[in-house]
Amino acid sequence: LLELKDVRQTYGDGAGAVHVLKGADLTVRRGEIIALIAPSGAGKSTLLHICGLLERPTAGDVDIDGERTAKLADRQRTLLRRHLIGYVYQFHHLLPEFSALENVTMPQLIAGESQRDGDQRSKALLDAMGIGHRTTHRPAELSGGEQQRVAIARAAANRPSLILADEPTGNLDPATSDTVFSALAELIRQQNAGCIIATHNHDLARKADRIVTIVEGRIQPATL
Ligand code: ATP
Ligand code: MG
Repeated sequence: LLELKDVRQTYGDGAGAVHVLKGADLTVRRGEIIALIAPSGAGKSTLLHICGLLERPTAGDVDIDGERTAKLADRQRTLLRRHLIGYVYQFHHLLPEFSALENVTMPQLIAGESQRDGDQRSKALLDAMGIGHRTTHRPAELSGGEQQRVAIARAAANRPSLILADEPTGNLDPATSDTVFSALAELIRQQNAGCIIATHNHDLARKADRIVTIVEGRIQPATL
C-alpha cells in the first residue's frame, strides 16, 4: 500500500540545515496498523506529512498503491490524497465555523457523496468515537479530546486506504484513548486500510501490529 525508499528530508541549507530524515525506509501493508514512537523532534510529523503527500521529501521514493508520487504534479497529488488518504493532524485543524457533523461530512461532499449519505455516515462515525451526542457543537464548544475524536472521524470519512494519525489521542484520558483506538482499529480492519499512528502512548502502541521508531533519521523496528 505504502512504500518509502531512502526518504530524506532537510530543512534549510548551509550551516543551518536540519537533516530530519536521512534515508528512511518503510512498508505499510493493507490491514496493518503501525505505531510510530520517537522522541519530540525526531521527525514523526515530518514523516507523516511526507506519507500523506502534504510535503515533498528532499529525496527518495514515496509509492502509494504502486504509484511513484514524487513524479506527480501537485494537482494529481491532491487528488490522490483526497481519495486514498485520511489524515489526523497533530493540531486538529477542524473548521471553526462548522458543527462536528459538518466537519466530518465535508470531505465526503467534496468527494461527490450526497448530503444525506454523508450525514448518515458521519453520524455513525461520531457514534463510534463516542461523541454522537455532540454532532451540532462547533469545535470551540467541544473539549480538546472531543475535537480530537471529531478529527479522527473526519479522517475516516472517505473510506481512505491509508490513515495517518499524528498523536490522535494526545488529549484523551486512558479509557477514552482505548475506546477511540479500538474504534479506529475496527474501521481499519473493515476497510482493509493501512495505518500509521504516531503516539507517545506506549499502551496504545502495544496494540498495533508493529512498532517502529526513528533513530538518526532512519526507521527502525522497536519493542516496548
Ligand atoms: P513532536 O513529538 O514534538 O511532535 P516530531 O517527531 O513530530 O516531534 P517534527 O515535527 O517532525 O518532530 O520535527 C522534526 C525536526 O524538524 C524538528 O527539529 C523541527 O524543528 C524540524 N522542522 C520541522 N518542520 C520544519 C520546517 N518546516 N522548517 C524547519 N525545520 C523544521
Ligand atoms: Mg509531531
